[in-house]
Amino acid sequence: MKYDINNIFAKILRGEIPCKKIYENDYVLSFYDINPQKKIHALVIPKGSYVDLDDFIKNAKEKEIFEFFKALSHVANLLKVSNIEGGYRTLTNVGQNGGQEVPHLHFHIFGGEKVGKMVSN
Ligand code: 5GP
Repeated sequence: MKYDINNIFAKILRGEIPCKKIYENDYVLSFYDINPQKKIHALVIPKGSYVDLDDFIKNAKEKEIFEFFKALSHVANLLKVSNIEGGYRTLTNVGQNGGQEVPHLHFHIFGGEKVGKMVSN
């Protein structure tokens, strides 16, 4: 799938749309989800233009991949949802069957309360 430069997260990265920022470095941006599904619901996205996890793993530099997953854990720590603080769920949706709405790779972080069943209907 070709990357759509006008997807909503690309606009957030370009500063065309505001977000409630949690963390940013050269490789990633993290912000709160606009429609939280749990008490804490954050998103972590790479700054590079990748549609989904498969695109990222195939096309990103190892440094980008390493920095992305490091930042994912760092954000969970910033949000105080790490394992010792109650724990969290992280997930990424890929494509139509995965329920992906925004075609720029993002991992969700849910926490602050019990997240519930692994997969719901
Ligand atoms: P997906 O279904 O693609 O895995 O998740 C997309 C997520 O992006 C949804 O949870 C949705 O609420 C969130 N979202 C969509 N548009 C915006 C926006 O403009 N700002 C923020 N902060 N989140 C958004």
